[in-house]
Amino acid sequence: MSDCIFCKIARGEIPAKVVRKSPDAVAFHDLTPQAPVHVLVIPTKHFAAVRDAAGVADSEAALGKLLVFAAEVATELGLDQGGYRIVTNTGPDAGQSVHHLHLHLLGGRRLGWPPG
Ligand code: 5GP
Ligand code: ZN
Repeated sequence: MSDCIFCKIARGEIPAKVVRKSPDAVAFHDLTPQAPVHVLVIPTKHFAAVRDAAGVADSEAALGKLLVFAAEVATELGLDQGGYRIVTNTGPDAGQSVHHLHLHLLGGRRLGWPPG
């Protein structure tokens, strides 16, 4: 989508601190980190949220790849031993503010549960 901020980051039109990039996904540091490590992992293909992947051709494979890609980034950032959380906010109750599907990869400190 032309006016989507994360599509622009995926295309390299807006600067971001990119950790890892593949043809299908980009991982970059969140602008407002909520933990010592806070990386966003996005598919290059635009989905507004995870619910929008339902019924889309090949979305199961795309989202499976995205999760594995996020785990590889976590390993690369040294999070395996301490552990980490991967979460995706969907819709207003979850506080989704950017409407391009993204996984938050959070780590580097003890994370509270349940989340707020
Ligand atoms: P959401 O609230 O939709 O789950 O998460 C959106 C996230 O995107 C927030 O954590 C916010 O800090 C981050 N964010 C919003 N705009 C930008 C941006 O232009 N660059 C980066 N790196 N992160 C952004
Ligand atoms: Zn987008």
